[in-house]
This record gives sequence, structure tokens and C-alpha cells, in this order.
Amino acid sequence: MKVLIVSAHPEPRSLNGSLRDVAVRALEAQGHEVRVSDLYAQGWKSDVDHADFPSLPTEARLAPAAASKQAFESGTLTDDVKAEIEKLLWADVLILQFPLWWFSMPAILKGWVDRVFAYGFAYGVGEHSDKRWGDRYGEGTLAGKRAMLIVTAGGWQEHYSARGVNGPIDDLLFPINHGTLYYPGYDVLPPFVAYKADKLDEAGFQAIAERLRGRMRTLATTPPIPYRRQNSGDYLIPSMQLRAGLEDSGASGFALHAEQAEARSPGGEASSMRSTMDVRAATA
Ligand SMILES: Cc1cc2nc3c(=O)[nH]c(=O)nc-3n(C[C@H](O)[C@H](O)[C@H](O)COP(=O)(O)OP(=O)(O)OC[C@H]3O[C@@H](n4cnc5c(N)ncnc54)[C@H](O)[C@@H]3O)c2cc1C
Repeated sequence: MKVLIVSAHPEPRSLNGSLRDVAVRALEAQGHEVRVSDLYAQGWKSDVDHADFPSLPTEARLAPAAASKQAFESGTLTDDVKAEIEKLLWADVLILQFPLWWFSMPAILKGWVDRVFAYGFAYGVGEHSDKRWGDRYGEGTLAGKRAMLIVTAGGWQEHYSARGVNGPIDDLLFPINHGTLYYPGYDVLPPFVAYKADKLDEAGFQAIAERLRGRMRTLATTPPIPYRRQNSGDYLIPSMQLRAGLEDSGASGFALHAEQAEARSPGGEASSMRSTMDVRAATA
């Protein structure tokens, strides 16, 4: 397979830098082709602004979505964005790797998404009618490819459990997994999360590295999180609400949008939306 790792940490000698190297070596050892977008090393520009649209007259009012659409269609996106789009089209698997900062991805990675996931490429794709609401949520340009997060977090796993004070990790990552990756079509694998990342000794690092190698070995076979497809009939159009009665008893919130009970990796890695829900139900 062809794997693109988009990595977002300012320090190559960090835990994230080490885990990225572990992932690259494990993938290459299996014969996969790997490319890395190291956003800090590339000096990635994270903010969307007028300079992103060279064909837009300087004095013209910037409407970011419309400008993105025009630039994508006319092939006038900037070269750095075009290069990342080419990598996304090349890759069978996309891995986003980052430390959890303020319960989300670092700004540089958010800015990569904002600029690279262009209108006409990652959104605004497909027909809108009384039967379809565009090609998104399981359909779209990137359908048929896989995606996965590798995340390090300072907090404890318990703090991210169903009743943990930080909120369930599946909920916190839902906007990325569902809103950013599933939206343009990726099959999204359960995330790899390393907790208590600031307190690692050598043995702790080795344990995490081995767990990560296991996930890299099963990249092609791990079942994706079973998010519901938008145009499969589960949602009413145009309100895009989940039809009543489809959810399991007790399901609510983000967990409504996943359909099966089990989506664990062979190694029992991070949970799916539904497994979070199961824990909630069990502890309610
Ligand atoms: C702005 C900001 C916001 C944050 N927000 C959150 C949040 O919302 N939720 C949360 O849970 N946490 C949060 N954190 C904590 C953050 O998630 C962790 O600091 C981060 O995940 C640690 O990853 P790192 O790559 O920066 O680790 P590093 O600091 O590079 O390393 C962590 C530990 O791993 C060891 N290590 C690194 N590489 C190796 C190696 N090769 N071999 C052996 N040991 C190694 C280091 O010695 C160190 O002990 C935040 C931190 C910041 C700076």
C-alpha cells in the first residue's frame, strides 16, 4: 500500500518524532511505500488568506469557499497545496499524527486541512437532490481509502473514558474522524492513542512503540469505525437527521452516527464510537 503520514510536531526529537519513525520503519518493513509531510519541517503556512488564491484580483473581496472552488477548478491553487493534494490522491492510507493540544490537533495541522481540503476536492462534491446530499460522509473524492489518527495525550486513559472529566476520547476526536476524514470519503480506523505521554520512561516508550507496530501491521485489515453513510437511507433529506428508531437503546450524541457494536482493532486498540456508548450504557 501507499501510505502518507502527515506529522505535526515542532521538535523532531520529540515523542511524536520517535513514533513517526517507528511507524515509517514498520510500514517499510512490510513493503509499503511511505511518504511523510512533516509540516513544521516544511514550514507549512497554516492560515487561509488572500495569498492562497493568486488568480483572485488583489482588491477583490475574499470569500474563502468560493475562492477555493474557483482555484481548485481552474488549477490555480498554490503549489504547496497542490503538492499535498497530489499526495492524498497517491496514498491508499492517510495517517494524521499529532500531540493532543487543547483537545484537538495543533493549529498547523488544522491549517493543513483548511487549505488542502479544497472545495470541489474534499467538499462541495456530488449532486444535491431529494435523494442525495452531495458525496460526503463515506462517499466523495477520497472514498475507498483508509485514514487513521496517531495521537499522544498528556492525560490518563481513564480521564478520557466514558465518565472521565476530559470527555470520551471518541467524542473529542469525532470532529476529526467523522467531520474531517469520513466527510470526504475515507474509511476511518479506530485511532491509536498514547496516554500519559509526558511521563514516559524507556520501558513505557517501548511498550507504546510495540503497540504502534502492531497497528501498522494491521493497517489494511483493521475494521473501520462503522459510521453511517449519509446517502444510504439512514438520514432524512434535506434535514439530514437520523431516522427515528435506528439507534441502539441508550445511544445519543455522536454515537448515533455509528452503526455496529464492534470496531476494535485486533490488538484491542482504541475504541469505536459504539464501544464508548457501550461503556456509557454500562455505567449509567
Ligand atoms: C499547548 C499544549 C496543549 C495541550 N493540551 C492537552 C490536552 O488538551 N489534553 C492532553 O491530554 N494533553 C495536552 N497537552 C499535553 C500533550 O498532549 C503532550 O505534551 C504531548 O502529547 C506529548 O508528546 P510530545 O511528542 O510533545 O512528547 P515529548 O515531550 O517529546 O516526550 C514525552 C516523553 O516521552 C519521552 N520520549 C520521547 N521520545 C522518546 C524515545 N525515543 N525513547 C524514550 N522516551 C522518549 C520523553 O523523554 C518524555 O518523557 C498539551 C500540551 C501542550 C504543549
